[in-house]
Amino acid sequence: MAKPKVGVWSFTGCEGCQVEMLNCPEIMDLLDKVKVMRFPILEERDEKGKYDICFVEGAITTKEEEEKLKDVRKRTNFLVALGTCATYGGIPSIKNFLDEKKVEKTVYRNTSYLHSEKAEPLEKFIKVDYNMRGCPPDKDEFVRVFKDLLLEKKPKEPDFPVCVECRKKENPCLLEQGHFCLGPVTHGGCDAVCPSNEVMCHGCRGPLKDANIKREIEIFEKKGATSEDLKRILIKFAGEKFRTCDL
Ligand code: SF4
Ligand code: SF4
Ligand code: SF4
Repeated sequence: MAKPKVGVWSFTGCEGCQVEMLNCPEIMDLLDKVKVMRFPILEERDEKGKYDICFVEGAITTKEEEEKLKDVRKRTNFLVALGTCATYGGIPSIKNFLDEKKVEKTVYRNTSYLHSEKAEPLEKFIKVDYNMRGCPPDKDEFVRVFKDLLLEKKPKEPDFPVCVECRKKENPCLLEQGHFCLGPVTHGGCDAVCPSNEVMCHGCRGPLKDANIKREIEIFEKKGATSEDLKRILIKFAGEKFRTCDL
């Protein structure tokens, strides 16, 4: 039987999602069971033709990226948005809230060749078959999804908050101890890795669909955070999703 054709694509991001894939021996074993057509961090080439599975990393920030993404979608049977840049705009989408020209001038000497627009998630332009959230995504989730796809099963996205896994692990709750934590409003599936190490959840897997953001804001304000502090925390990974909230 022919091996499934798999491709990795990268748009605007730090490429950390690809690095995370390479860091996991189990993922490397799985890659042996497929035909890897492209993997930009290892080798940049543009294989034409159809793909069975594509993992697409990064936000979309230019018309050229949008067109490329639409072409990839047309040629792909099952498309996974890989990481928070791809699922929500991620870190690059912080620029959607800033004076872009001012930021560009602070970072680059020559800004004449820059032409990016707002950083947007893949779903703004195409249908995504699976959103693998996280900055970077969780390796176990990656392995589970990859195995399901190789077995021709449709993988299921986690739809519970970080608190569920955190409570199962019987971690002391950071909120109850007077600290901040975005666990109640953030997509779970990372095994609550941050609160398990006494670090607040910063919301890297993005907000749950029915997240009670207003309640989370009230909790933060009671602990003395200002609206500016809150805005900075909330827009860090999924700013566009929070644009509609009164921050
Ligand atoms: S989701 Fe995070 S790790 Fe992945 S490309 Fe974006 S910034 Fe990098
Ligand atoms: S520490 Fe954070 S993630 Fe864990 S239960 Fe408390 S609020 Fe939820
Ligand atoms: S606990 Fe929160 S910040 Fe940490 S990996 Fe999970 S979703 Fe991301």
